[in-house]
Amino acid sequence: MHGTQTIGKNGHLYIGGSDAVRLAEKFGTPLYVYDTALIKQKIRLFQEAFSRHSALNWQIAYASKAFSTLAMIQLAGDFGLSLDVVSGGELYTALKAGFPPERIHFHGNNKSADELARALDAKIGTVIVDNFSELSMLEQMCAARGQKIEILLRITPGVEAHTHEFIMTGHDDTKFGFNLDNGMAERAVFLALHSEHLILKGLHCHIGSQIFETEGFIRAIRALFSHMNEWEHHMHFRMKVLNVGGGFGIKYTSKDHPLPIGRFIDVIADTIEDECARHSLCIPEVWIEPGRSIVGEAGTTLYTLGSSKTIPGIREFISIDGGMTDNIRPALYQANYEAICANRADEPAEKKVTIAGKCCETGDVLIKDAFVPESCKMGDILAVFCTGAYGYSMASHYNRLPNPAVVFVEDGEASIVVRRETYEDLIRNDVPLRTFSSRQ
Ligand code: PLP
Repeated sequence: MHGTQTIGKNGHLYIGGSDAVRLAEKFGTPLYVYDTALIKQKIRLFQEAFSRHSALNWQIAYASKAFSTLAMIQLAGDFGLSLDVVSGGELYTALKAGFPPERIHFHGNNKSADELARALDAKIGTVIVDNFSELSMLEQMCAARGQKIEILLRITPGVEAHTHEFIMTGHDDTKFGFNLDNGMAERAVFLALHSEHLILKGLHCHIGSQIFETEGFIRAIRALFSHMNEWEHHMHFRMKVLNVGGGFGIKYTSKDHPLPIGRFIDVIADTIEDECARHSLCIPEVWIEPGRSIVGEAGTTLYTLGSSKTIPGIREFISIDGGMTDNIRPALYQANYEAICANRADEPAEKKVTIAGKCCETGDVLIKDAFVPESCKMGDILAVFCTGAYGYSMASHYNRLPNPAVVFVEDGEASIVVRRETYEDLIRNDVPLRTFSSRQ
């Protein structure tokens, strides 16, 4: 269990002081429940870790792709975070939430002219330029408007890290960024420095997701710094900002042992300080972009258990009233989750079952080996932990399932922050070929 989760005297799971079974009754299922005290705690951990490095200026940009709603963006803004957006839609949400535009960083490998125009109209703080087409499009747009904008260049440092592995990739085979090893990055720095309207503040890199070790960050930072002397001396490029991305690993299941957030920040800060000392360079402002490590563990999805199927000697399936539509991660990349029966949270969970979604896909299995009490039955509430990142934000309407509601809970109060979609919402933008009457 995570954050403020407890088991009440009635044997029910409580989140943020609210009885999960009552939440399911009141708001229906599937339901995304966010423990906002835990989100705030995670933000503070990042901030405290940076504060210990007094020589450093820093910014924490919440990667809103992990979970973007008006309420979440407001929370991030209230806590002094910056914001990473990746599309016109995420930008629109941020602006509608009243997020300060100067703290918005705009990412993406294929930003359209319309998206860039919206970013320029809103006077956002930074565009993280991903490729040469964007570099020239942004320059032309700024020239036409007589506007200047601060940019970072997204660099592909040839380091990839996921969970316990980091890989030095020789060929840098990714759609993102300017590759460091083949001269693309150097050319991009040159072009940006010679632009009249783009103000090159620094560099960005993001090495992967669900990272459990620090080596990948060290390698990526060193790889970038290995070019800095040359770029500073030959091109007069001074890196004022270095953004090292997100990807800090979290505890999805009891098998995950993530590093404390402070450990990542210490290693990143120390490596940057060491590299600056080694190359006699000024220390840049350090930016990071955590997504899942801020919201992942704070999210729990509540489902109602439905039908079951026992295949003797093979397995017992229990189906839920959601699935890959509200959490695509198990089907997409075999992500693992743990769950408990929220109305029997105090009973021993010894029966092994497979939790299946209700979508018409064999691969719609949420948890292959889940443990539930023997007494578990249809109508019970299942709580799947750690669904706060890339669940709601990756939700789909497959099989025309409406998207669930989202509630924030804290100190026994529950507030709805996204209403449940209705069937009417599902067809809102459909245009019928002709009316029934004219077909008859
Ligand atoms: N920054 C960039 C550029 C990303 O692509 C991502 C995730 O894909 C993130 C930050 C956030 O990663 P995470 O949610 O794993 O912290």
